[in-house]
Order: sequence, then structure tokens, then C-alpha cells
Amino acid sequence: MKAFKGVKFAYNPTPRTLQLLSTFRDMVNDAIRICLHEKLRGRFELRNRIYREFRERYGVLSCFPYSVAEVAWSIVKKHKRWHRKPYAKRLMLKIEAADFSLNYSILSLPFRKGERILVPLSYGEYQRSFLTDKTLKRGSVTVTESSVVIAFSKELPTNGPLRSVGYDLNEKSVVGSDGTTHDLSGVARLHTLYRVKRSKSYERHPLDRRLRKKFASSRREKERVSQALHRVSTLIVEKARAKKEAIVLERLKGIRYAHQKGNGEGKAKRRRIALWPFRQLQSYIDYKAKWAGVLVEYVSPSYTSKKCNVCGSINMKLKVTDRSWLCPCGAELDRDLNAAINIERRGKIRCLGEAHPGARDTDEAMKGNETTMAPILRAEAPKPSLREVQQTCQSHKSTRPAFG
Ligand SMILES: [Zn+2]
Repeated sequence: MKAFKGVKFAYNPTPRTLQLLSTFRDMVNDAIRICLHEKLRGRFELRNRIYREFRERYGVLSCFPYSVAEVAWSIVKKHKRWHRKPYAKRLMLKIEAADFSLNYSILSLPFRKGERILVPLSYGEYQRSFLTDKTLKRGSVTVTESSVVIAFSKELPTNGPLRSVGYDLNEKSVVGSDGTTHDLSGVARLHTLYRVKRSKSYERHPLDRRLRKKFASSRREKERVSQALHRVSTLIVEKARAKKEAIVLERLKGIRYAHQKGNGEGKAKRRRIALWPFRQLQSYIDYKAKWAGVLVEYVSPSYTSKKCNVCGSINMKLKVTDRSWLCPCGAELDRDLNAAINIERRGKIRCLGEAHPGARDTDEAMKGNETTMAPILRAEAPKPSLREVQQTCQSHKSTRPAFG
């Protein structure tokens, strides 16, 4: 099983580098035009069509028609969903692993015959760990005007998880079903802090559009929030790797919809929910887990907090402000921990079913698809019960009780 990761480097583009990028973009747009005009049906057809012509017209090395065809074809394929003509707008360049070399932090790119362009990359501690790790393989490199992204890949051991842990992501904390808690009240506070700052600046300069724009999406605010989320997601994934855990999360589709205007919640509450970067935290956990070889499973979010994890009865009267409650069965339940336990239960079979010793030969299963493990496990996972499906359908109505 292989894991992939793109690592971003900063660099200072020289005029020559920019010329390479703009030549590449011109070639891509040229190829798109040819592809549409001649109704070519695949990237191989496109590559064969442009190979000779482009080498002559642009004077580039032979590796370029290949990657130009790749990039152009992916744009042609995607453009049907766009509302504009297929066109590569930004300066960019993509080159496969065989055609660039990396000497510690000096990237060497091909261009014309007998000419290579050397790009010194700036790096920090994080990027350095990828440059010096000899076990990593290099994939493609993508260069834009402002950054260089190098894809690294590595082989992961195919050991399955020993247990699963569910996480309830809520407004002020992340609570695990094993009792771990990560405080995130700082994120909510940050949003409040910046909102106050914003409104103060509006009061002082009510007509200054430039200022308004500047504060509307404060970069510092975003940076500080994502810093906090990076810290928490790293802790969760590192623990999961060390203890061989699988991570179970709620499928958060529709959370904005559930908390839209007219659902009975106040403006302030809806604002906080809209700002809360649930999805951002999930995606951080997701990609870090993939790189670490940790399995992440998503389950239906319906009634996770209202359902008692001991007897299974659903407390419809539970309010958002109730932090804990007493179930008729006698169980004393902490809201967040109870939700985390319910989440963990729903994902358990899917996480551990595959990895259960003797259940099936794991190595055999991996042969068919070597890119990621998620699709295999999903295909093998039991289908959701009709009840679960109904709950998911219901949850799209505005009176949804989920997340409550
Ligand atoms: Zn109960």
C-alpha cells in the first residue's frame, strides 16, 4: 500500500523560470485547442498528435509533450463542469519524476536542449524532513509562480488497526471515545476577537471599502485558526499511529444547511457554526492519517449525541446547552463523550472487520488496488442498513435533530 503527499516549497522565480512556466502554459492551451478542434479521445492520442509538432514549434525537450498532454487532457475532461472555455489561466508546469532531479534543495528542471533550469528551494524544518528522508520516493513536481509542490510517496505496512476510536468534533473541543479531550475553545475565542476588531474598525472608518475588504477575511485570523487545527489533528493522528487505532468521524455533509436561517437558533449561534472550520479539521485529520497509514472511517451523524450509548434510547428533549443528562436507564451521560462512543460504535465494524485476524488475507486484498486502502475497505464494508439510510435522508430536512 502506498501513501502520497504533496510538499510545498517557496522559491524566487527568475525571469528564465517564468519563461519556462509561460512556455508550458502556452503549450497546454495549444494542446487543449487541438484536442477540442480535432475531437481527440484520450491523452495518448493527444500526446502522439502533438509530440513532433510541439518539439519543433517550442524547441523543448521530449519529456514536455508527455506532461503537456497529461495536463491538457485533465483540463479538457474537467471543463464540462466549468462555466467557461477550457483554458489554463495561471502560469504552471508539471513534470514527472523521471524528468527532474533534486539535489538536496536544488531542483533541476529540463527546458530546451542542453539547458536545465536550477531552482533553489526555500525550506523549513518540515520540508527538510522530506528532503533528507531517503526512504521516500519522488513523484511529479508542480511549479507555479509562487511555489513548488513535490509529491512524495512511501510504502506503508499493511497491518490493520487494533481498535477504533470515535471523535466528536464540537464547537469548543474534540472528544475521543477513549476519553481523550482536545481543547479548541481558543478557536471560538479567536473568531470573537477578530469580529470585535472588525466591527471596531468599521465604526472608526465606516466608508473605507479598502479597510473593510482587508478585514473581511483576515489572513492572521485564518492562520491562527489553522495553526490550532494542525496542532490538534497532529496529536490525534500521532496517537492513532502509535496505538494502532482507526479513527471514526461523523460525515459532516450538510452541516451548514442544518444550521441555516430559520431553524430556531439565534444569529450569534448560527454565525459561530458557520465559522467553525469542522471540515478543515476533518480534512487535516484525513490527509495526515493517510500519510501515517491510519484508517479513517466516516459514519452517519444522526442522533449521535441524543442516543444513550448504554440502552440506545433517544432523548429527543436534549437541548444544545445540556452538557450532560440522566437517561431513564440510569446511565449518567456526558454529552460529548456519549456522542464519541456512538460514533465509534458505528464505525467499528467497518474499521476492524477487514483487519480482523484470519478474516481474509490482507496482502491479497491489497494487490488489486495499490494506491489507497480506503476504497478497498469501503467496498468490503457492510452496506448501511435501511434505517441508517432513512436517517441520512431525514437529516437533509431542515428539522434535523442531528448535531443537536
Ligand atoms: Zn440509557
